[in-house]
Amino acid sequence: MTIHLLGTAAAEGWPAPFCTCDACAASRRAGGWNVRTRSGAIIDSDLKVDFGADTLMQLQRDGRSIETLRTIVFTHEHSDHIIPTELGWMRRPFTNTPPAEPVAIYGNSKVLQLIRAAAQAEGDTGARLHELRPFVAATTSTGDTILPLPADHAEGALVLRISRRGKTLFYGHDSGLYPEPTLDALSDGVVLDVALMDCTNGAMESSNRGHMGVDGVMRMAQELRRRGAITAKTRVVATHFSHNGKALHEELVRLFEPHGIEVAYDAMSITV
Ligand SMILES: [Zn+2]
Ligand SMILES: [Zn+2]
Ligand SMILES: [Zn+2]
Repeated sequence: MTIHLLGTAAAEGWPAPFCTCDACAASRRAGGWNVRTRSGAIIDSDLKVDFGADTLMQLQRDGRSIETLRTIVFTHEHSDHIIPTELGWMRRPFTNTPPAEPVAIYGNSKVLQLIRAAAQAEGDTGARLHELRPFVAATTSTGDTILPLPADHAEGALVLRISRRGKTLFYGHDSGLYPEPTLDALSDGVVLDVALMDCTNGAMESSNRGHMGVDGVMRMAQELRRRGAITAKTRVVATHFSHNGKALHEELVRLFEPHGIEVAYDAMSITV
């Protein structure tokens, strides 16, 4: 399984468009891994996680297309994770090669509501919608298992455990410190190959509620290690960074490296 991280920023991107704070100025100066677009990922070439406004640019930037997409799974309805009208490009005349089979879309009720409203206003994409409910695993047409779990974020927001051909990814953002029932569900003996965690607050002092910072990610990694979900083979990766967290890429690497945690960057590919 290859997880390609298309974007690794919080909602406003980094540098943020209206902001000239030190962290945004430093990002503009340094470029490279310090320039972050809104979060989203593509797994192999057929499974997309979230579909924000930056998706088109990210695919163009990385020389990718998604004509073989079979499934899109959404974490929650915030606008950095879903712009429902962007899904319209899968229908004619916006594509001359629409999906041979309807794309399957999974999300909570708020996500599905947004997609239905966009389809009503702009035309149906032909995608099949499936509602995700916490703790109820869904099996996709490609044989993946998606286990949605409650996040500490907007009401109904989900973190996702995605299993594909014996490999397992924990897509752990957006969320503050994971709720106890989520930690319990992750303690069922399944060892994660990759654990992506929310580090919106970076090095900023924070309560780790709603989102986490560096210390929250470290705490959750330790907790999941104690519970057997994270082992020496797990790649733990912090992502979804905001300029308000201040620490630039190199500083984040310096903070996380001693704890065996990697720092995500745009276009990072993780193969397990
Ligand atoms: Zn977000
Ligand atoms: Zn800023
Ligand atoms: Zn959010």
